[in-house]
Amino acid sequence: MTTYHGRPCKHCGYTERYVKGKECVVCKRATRRIAWSRMQERKAAAKVREKNQIASNNKQVAIDAKSRIYEGLECSVCNGVRRYIKSNNCVACSRNSSFESYHNKIVRKTPEQVWAELKPRFTDVKTDDEFKGRSYWI
Ligand SMILES: [Zn+2]
Ligand SMILES: [Zn+2]
Repeated sequence: MTTYHGRPCKHCGYTERYVKGKECVVCKRATRRIAWSRMQERKAAAKVREKNQIASNNKQVAIDAKSRIYEGLECSVCNGVRRYIKSNNCVACSRNSSFESYHNKIVRKTPEQVWAELKPRFTDVKTDDEFKGRSYWI
């Protein structure tokens, strides 16, 4: 677009203007940028709304089908779409976390660690009082 230098702009004081429309170049660019970013925001919001709509539709269908799982919003951790109807939690991630907690529960101390704890009870006679009256002595 061809520009010329005319009256300084009221808003920015810059003199460069477009021949066509006589608008300030700087302000025009700024408003265009703002309009563009607003459009992007609107597009993103519309996308989210659409996704939510699809997810809630899927959920309703799954509820009608008496399922426990539906295809909802993408998980931020694993990008999976399968979610539980009750909790809305990602299926893969909840399985992972329950798997982990299950493992944490059954992970036992190594024989060396157990022995390190028990050793003083075998060797230190002073601790005998501590175990008196118990049905077991370790
Ligand atoms: Zn301006
Ligand atoms: Zn996940």
